[in-house]
Amino acid sequence: MLPSAPMPAAIDRERLQALFLELVRIDSLSRREGRIASRLARELRELGAEVVFDEAGARVGGDTGNLVARVAGTVDAPALLLCAHMDTVSPGEGVRPVVEDDVIRSDGTTVLGGDDKSGVAIVCECIRVCRDGRLRHPPIDVVFTICEEVGLLGARHLDTSLLRARRGLVFDSDAVGCAFTRAPGANHIDVVVRGRAAHAGMAPERGVSVIRVAAEAIAALRLGRIDAETTANVGIIQGGRATNIVPDEVRVRGEARSHDRERLAAETAHMRACFEEAAGRHPGARVEIEVESAYEPMAVADDSAIMLLVAAAAARTGRTITPAGMGGGCDANVLNRRGLEVVNLGTGMRDIHTTGEWLSVSDMVAAAEVTLAVLQLAAE
Ligand SMILES: [Zn+2]
Repeated sequence: MLPSAPMPAAIDRERLQALFLELVRIDSLSRREGRIASRLARELRELGAEVVFDEAGARVGGDTGNLVARVAGTVDAPALLLCAHMDTVSPGEGVRPVVEDDVIRSDGTTVLGGDDKSGVAIVCECIRVCRDGRLRHPPIDVVFTICEEVGLLGARHLDTSLLRARRGLVFDSDAVGCAFTRAPGANHIDVVVRGRAAHAGMAPERGVSVIRVAAEAIAALRLGRIDAETTANVGIIQGGRATNIVPDEVRVRGEARSHDRERLAAETAHMRACFEEAAGRHPGARVEIEVESAYEPMAVADDSAIMLLVAAAAARTGRTITPAGMGGGCDANVLNRRGLEVVNLGTGMRDIHTTGEWLSVSDMVAAAEVTLAVLQLAAE
């Protein structure tokens, strides 16, 4: 006698969309992910996972830690990590999603939060299909991080001792069909130029204008795209008090990014030098410069085990997924630095960090189908 036929083991588009719509309606700005975290803990416990929270929330001043859920495997195979972040950027409260056929967008007053609730919903749907369809799958470690959008803080403070997996997937980028294996590292540069205030009409020669110093420094900077791997930007200038006062304090903030650590260091040193040299030309001016490493570059080999697994799984679903480089950092940068091997899979989120954010449900389904195939293949 054959056992009765299992339930159909396929991604359920309606269910995936419904969960996504529910999640985007739950406010979860960075450090306030507590509500969505409890909702997801319930979802994952219902699916048989053992759910715990680490201490990251206390360390970063948030209302919850990272959610770590461990799903037992049906086979004895290496565990796989599935990771997405729970927080969203502003304006991200009171999201009212609008569904138009295959497209979901915000109502134009907030972001949609597809970054990264599309990733979160895909992970939950895949685990549900595995369980309901009694599919073979390896042990799965789910990590839903906090505070990705404010400096990858959740990933930095993640208690990796809770994980069994050494490799896996982060779901936090747009293009379906791409697995991002390379991303730049970034340095934030914060410069305060100090000079001497004076009355601009009565005693200008007594003043040292820091706006002039900053302008000379910025004019000397290489900015924009420096080479194929490196970019630099000055994004904020603040300073000055009145048109009749020679300004004595100005703050300039910028960043450098590069896929190459040495070029990142060189570009950062160049930015520092431009400010120091400009100040040196004006007696009485000085600069205070702080450089903070925002995140390290990531570079996973195209023939790494995880990339080969993703490419083979995609082929099974009749799709192609190719390795690609992205321009920003995400949790994957941190996790790769912390000894895991992860690539970042596109979920279909578009125009992220804007009130015009949208996504196509078909793209989200495609990403989920590839992920399900990854789980199947990893169990063979
Ligand atoms: Zn994101």
